[in-house]
Amino acid sequence: MKILLLGSGGREHALAWKIAQSPLCGQLFIAPGNAGTAQFGQNVNIAVSALDELKAFCLQQQIDMVIPGSEEPLVKGIYDHFKADAALQHIPVIGPSKLGAQLEGSKAFAKQFMLRHNIPTAAYREFTEDTYAEGVAYLQQHSLPIVIKADGLAAGKGVVIVDSAEEAIAEFTHMIKAAKFGDASKRVVVEQFLTGIECSVFVITDGHSYQLLPTAKDYKRIGEGDTGLNTGGMGAVSPVPFADKAFMQKVETLIIQPTVAGLAAEGIVYHGFIFFGLINVGGHPYVIEYNCRMGDPETEVVMPRLQNDLVALFKAVPEGTLAAQAIQEDARAAATVMLVSKGYPEDYEKGKVITNLPAQQPGQLVFHAGTKESNGQLLTNGGRVLTVTSLANSLGEALAQSRQTAGTIQFEGKYYRHDIGFEFL
Ligand code: ATP
Repeated sequence: MKILLLGSGGREHALAWKIAQSPLCGQLFIAPGNAGTAQFGQNVNIAVSALDELKAFCLQQQIDMVIPGSEEPLVKGIYDHFKADAALQHIPVIGPSKLGAQLEGSKAFAKQFMLRHNIPTAAYREFTEDTYAEGVAYLQQHSLPIVIKADGLAAGKGVVIVDSAEEAIAEFTHMIKAAKFGDASKRVVVEQFLTGIECSVFVITDGHSYQLLPTAKDYKRIGEGDTGLNTGGMGAVSPVPFADKAFMQKVETLIIQPTVAGLAAEGIVYHGFIFFGLINVGGHPYVIEYNCRMGDPETEVVMPRLQNDLVALFKAVPEGTLAAQAIQEDARAAATVMLVSKGYPEDYEKGKVITNLPAQQPGQLVFHAGTKESNGQLLTNGGRVLTVTSLANSLGEALAQSRQTAGTIQFEGKYYRHDIGFEFL
């Protein structure tokens, strides 16, 4: 098969690494890819959201399957675009329809969906400019802290948690009246604050059945001890120690099954990954968010622990035969530690020479995020640069190995967290 993977992060490097291992993969293209994905296929200089260019490329290269790594093309409707075009409708796009991608693209859509299907989530109300005064009154009597979310995509910055009604009203006003996030904050979700520990659960679904992938937990804050600004993710671990059989049983019956059944009952076409951002509140799972793709950096610990042929799983999606697959997980623990550029998630410099990359060794993988190759040198090309994944018999060992390797890789301004997985050690 000829496969086109869309994206350019560590997630896509991990997916490319896994896809290339499949005997079903004849040729792999990655648009636009990075220096890491180029080791497993051919990078193609097309942006993930340039749907017309992607369509033309698929026709020209006779692509057999498209795998969007990030949410952008999915929320933009890549699935529907392919299905609506007679020349392309035979090419499976592994992802939801545009409507299905609204589970991630609109927090209000996701909350309404959960409400309709009795899926546990924080209590909430949604407001627009028309109901602004009502929103202010609601915030004045809300328990603290208050969670305020821009409805649409805001690059992970659209959620604010505040400790007073005054701050809440200021933030709410900034979002609705001053369009802080443009159209994304024309609608605002105000949510009850839940206290607990978060984790990520992933399934792949063909719209009727699903397969559960290894669990993971990511670390979003830039600073040690989960402090400072939010980032795209500074590291991850898999499996999640508290996501034991009893907890996962609740997740399946209370959250995953009603979600997949709810999508089917509402006729929402969904052929791909569902990412459940969960919080464990005293042993009870609640949904914080849905994403319509894999997480980054969770993919960098999930794929190394998945023993199945990933392309065989993808192939079963359009065929509707996922129920016949059985997921095999590596019993070892995986940890990944992200190396970022000084200044990230705010301003940072690019173009720093990367040296001392370790040679491939068993149980250790280095995935590229923001890198590029120039004149035979590997250069930094983003805030998140590389992530070091290790597999070991214990989480502690995996983390120690990743930290050790993170320490030896060199580039000017390198920074990484030393405490990924801290609460499980
Ligand atoms: P991401 O960057 O993961 O895509 P997002 O911008 O889509 O995030 P959410 O995942 O909904 O937004 O929220 C971001 C973070 O805010 C969550 O990971 C969680 O830590 C916190 N959060 C969101 N909702 C709640 C809540 N109801 N109670 C407590 N914390 C919350």
